[in-house]
Amino acid sequence: MVLTTPLTLYNSLTKRKERFEPQKRGHVRIYVCGPTVYEYAHIGNFRAFLAADTLVRTLRYRGYKTTYIRNITDVGHLTDDADQGEDKVEKSAVSKGISALEVGDMFTKVFQGDALALNLLTPDKEPRASEHIEEQILMIRELEKRGFTYRAKDGIYFDTAKMKGYGKLASLDLHTSSEGRIASNPEKKNPRDFALWKFSPEETKRQMEWPSPWGVGFPGWHIECSAMSRKYLGFPFDIHMGGIDHASVHHTNEIAQNEGVFGGQTVKFWLHSEFVLIDGKKMSKSLGNTYTLKDVAGRGISLLAFRYMTLNTHYRQKLNFTWDALIAAENSLNALYDSVEHLTQERNKVRIGRRLLSAVGSLRNIAVRGNKIQSSFENSVADDLNTPQALAALWELIKSPSLSPSVKLSYVRRFDQVLGLNLTLYEDVVIPPRIQDLIREREVARKKTDWPEADRLRDEIAKLGYALRDTEKGPIITKIKK
Ligand code: AMP
Ligand code: ZN
Repeated sequence: MVLTTPLTLYNSLTKRKERFEPQKRGHVRIYVCGPTVYEYAHIGNFRAFLAADTLVRTLRYRGYKTTYIRNITDVGHLTDDADQGEDKVEKSAVSKGISALEVGDMFTKVFQGDALALNLLTPDKEPRASEHIEEQILMIRELEKRGFTYRAKDGIYFDTAKMKGYGKLASLDLHTSSEGRIASNPEKKNPRDFALWKFSPEETKRQMEWPSPWGVGFPGWHIECSAMSRKYLGFPFDIHMGGIDHASVHHTNEIAQNEGVFGGQTVKFWLHSEFVLIDGKKMSKSLGNTYTLKDVAGRGISLLAFRYMTLNTHYRQKLNFTWDALIAAENSLNALYDSVEHLTQERNKVRIGRRLLSAVGSLRNIAVRGNKIQSSFENSVADDLNTPQALAALWELIKSPSLSPSVKLSYVRRFDQVLGLNLTLYEDVVIPPRIQDLIREREVARKKTDWPEADRLRDEIAKLGYALRDTEKGPIITKIKK
């Protein structure tokens, strides 16, 4: 079922809200820049992934089939986010005394566990940059054939002067040098030119390097996303998403590479999510002001409270993070869980024949009221993913005096397809958020075949009064009778 209210999304390319229609009927192809797996992702990073998750959920809610790709960057992302500095993954490997491959594997697994715990949808593919070197080399060769490249001592560069319209995404002023970035390689023809392939340095041995037609080395960060989105979605595709910091360099350069090989527009919509701030400054590993999901759990706060918090701020608004705000979000989420529990009990009482509904209007009024709230929810989401307004519609539903518990529950279940807050997962036995977290942690441990950890978590859950039974469809939880 495709809803009638059109979906509008703010397109960074045109700088306005536009009506969204996929290029292939009924099928939306989406790419989101994934994590660089050299450290624990921080909650700012997760805001970007949550925004993409909400978009994909919305598209599915609206009846679209989706192909959703989120990559893993495990090579080529340098410490200055451009062409200079060390490879973040290799640097982390040296400091941890393990191999670059191990660092990539380890933080990919941690990230996937965190993503599950936040109830992020699993993408159709999570391609790893280091496993797509051939595709990247092929793309660079195509750019070379079309005259977009030149060779410097340390690598092969993209000649931005050759690309008409370069910088259109971020409306870059090409007459000034790139914002604050120093043209650190004097061989570059233009400070905005960027590396497609970097040669391994002579003085140190890199762990991740590959032969290429130009010499042994490794790919630039931008070519990875171009090559992987092209491989899994094909050009042109529908939506590319990422954090706002990617617009001026990473995505600008992806566009240049894509259009260099394709000869025309390759992505219809570019969506960018805003930053999480701490004391007014961007949360970032380089500023040392980051918190991870482990920090959140360490304070006994449910991870879905962070999801609620991000939903309660529009994805294009900055989100100033404070622990008090997160606790307030958890209180609201707990109040929602309590309401669902209450509604479930009321509905069950009605089901077994006791007439408990106090203020039931005529059936017709109920239907109209329900539809109104549903439209208000759907229109909010359709308006460039206005989730704060959608949450307000959910609260209106919960508080509505005229709808029956079972009608309310059916809407809650529907709305939660977009919100992903697990509001009705345990509809019949409402499980406190802390237990839900432990169940999710245990699922992660089981996925990793970490049986001792899974058993330990089962015991912990039992101590808190709940019994867990594994079934083919997932764990079943029951309250232990005292
Ligand atoms: P990275 O792992 O550094 O490649 O970043 C993953 C994603 O997180 C990218 O889409 C970034 O734009 C995004 N990001 C980085 N810092 C923040 C922040 N403080 N708030 C929101 N998003 C961020
Ligand atoms: Zn990317």
